[in-house]
Amino acid sequence: MDVRAQIASVFHLDKCIGCHTCSVVCKNLWTNREGAEHMWWNNVEARPGLGYPRRWEDQEKWSGGWEKDGDDGVKLKAGGRLGMLSRIFHNPALPTIDDYYEPWTYQYKDLFDAPLGDTSPTARPVSRLTGKPIDVKSGPNWDDDLAGSKEHAAKDPGLDALTATERAALLATERMTYFHLPRTCNHCANPACVAACPSGAIYKRGEDGLVVSNPEACRGWRLCVSSCPYKKVFFNHATGKSEKCIGCYPRIESGEAPACFASCVGRIRFQGVVLYDATRLAELASRPEHDLVAAARDLLLDPESPEVQAAARASGVSDAVIDAAKRSPTYSFVKRWNLALPLHPEFRTLPMVFYVPPLLPFVSEKEDGITRTADGLFATLESSRVPLKYIAALFSAGNEAEAAAPYRKLLAIRLWRRAETVGDVSRDEVARAFIAADLTQDDAAAIHELTTFSRLEDRVVLPPGTRAEALEEWDGAQGGIGFARAGA
Ligand code: SF4
Ligand code: SF4
Ligand code: SF4
Repeated sequence: MDVRAQIASVFHLDKCIGCHTCSVVCKNLWTNREGAEHMWWNNVEARPGLGYPRRWEDQEKWSGGWEKDGDDGVKLKAGGRLGMLSRIFHNPALPTIDDYYEPWTYQYKDLFDAPLGDTSPTARPVSRLTGKPIDVKSGPNWDDDLAGSKEHAAKDPGLDALTATERAALLATERMTYFHLPRTCNHCANPACVAACPSGAIYKRGEDGLVVSNPEACRGWRLCVSSCPYKKVFFNHATGKSEKCIGCYPRIESGEAPACFASCVGRIRFQGVVLYDATRLAELASRPEHDLVAAARDLLLDPESPEVQAAARASGVSDAVIDAAKRSPTYSFVKRWNLALPLHPEFRTLPMVFYVPPLLPFVSEKEDGITRTADGLFATLESSRVPLKYIAALFSAGNEAEAAAPYRKLLAIRLWRRAETVGDVSRDEVARAFIAADLTQDDAAAIHELTTFSRLEDRVVLPPGTRAEALEEWDGAQGGIGFARAGA
């Protein structure tokens, strides 16, 4: 075993209110400068929708991520090393400014300098690239809250998994529904961006698995931009360098939660350390599609196991990190409770941000003053307005059984809480739901506690430590498959 520690996160989508505080905080802290106008290291998408950049999930177009190479390996979808190098001077798979948006500001000065008159002055939008007036046609969250949904939501690549009838039902105006999908870099265990970079400028930190970019080494080839299937590397046109989410490592190193976690209004974000065996990356990343959620779970090692702890110590993981891994909310959500899923596991980067899927709204009717579906108090998976197929296309590479499992737990917990607080659900009904969900009372209580009443220190559990000690521990560490290396 070659045990590594990784900072990994969970976003609980049922709690996201789409306020975009996370995006604004990140922008103010890290990308509020020239050349970074279009960068949203954290963004929040409305789904169904186009996403940002538009249709980023469409790997037929972008050739991002990995694909299977034989039974027990993966290769970059964009091609081998020669294929990648041939793209250095002409890379057709790069997003253009139209796939992002032309950043703009307003001529606020016109408001103050306008002469006295009968009409109110206006501040016209001007491009932040050219300084000239523009007609704003798109933005980073242009289809937010289903705005322009007839035009935008219908182009969501995830809808390809649905039949024409299912698509029409989902997009019917009177039934339309949506949820928010916050996204950051996934700090993948098998990062395509790292493997694609010919300069070794993007690397995976040995001590905590954060994937960061070294501007000194970056030559601006942009192969990281095209190879990241989540489109979470951005090119700075002013500096000629690639940039991405840094996991707020300066904050983490001084004992603070990442800014987008600390500021999250809905308290949807959880973060902790997980341990994994780096010798298994190729095998797990190359599993058949239906098995990729199980592969993501299999990657995580049990931090309570004496064997794992011994192997971790032998690999240089400190006791403080092992202790943090034991208290990791991420491990609980992903492995202990089987409640959180990876985003697009079929990209095979083994992403280290997981999602508790959003509870599905249902078609309700009032009966004796109680809101019921045709099947009971809450929606069954079959009667929900967002087809399970759509959720499976996002979070389980189409495996509907894997996508359904967290829902059974979420619904069982809802029924239990309803029985406790309102009393109109029978104990038998709750017991049946617990059995169907394979959920114990203790786990239900722990999930309820963590997702309802928790404080920031319960949601973000990171070990104390310094970069200097970490480098000593991890001298010679590698990052993922490919020609990655640990950076300084
Ligand atoms: Fe982040 Fe993974 Fe994309 Fe690299 S491949 S930028 S680690 S999401
Ligand atoms: Fe931005 Fe920090 Fe959040 Fe990354 S972790 S998206 S750098 S605020
Ligand atoms: Fe969602 Fe939290 Fe971001 Fe608000 S701050 S949009 S609740 S993730």
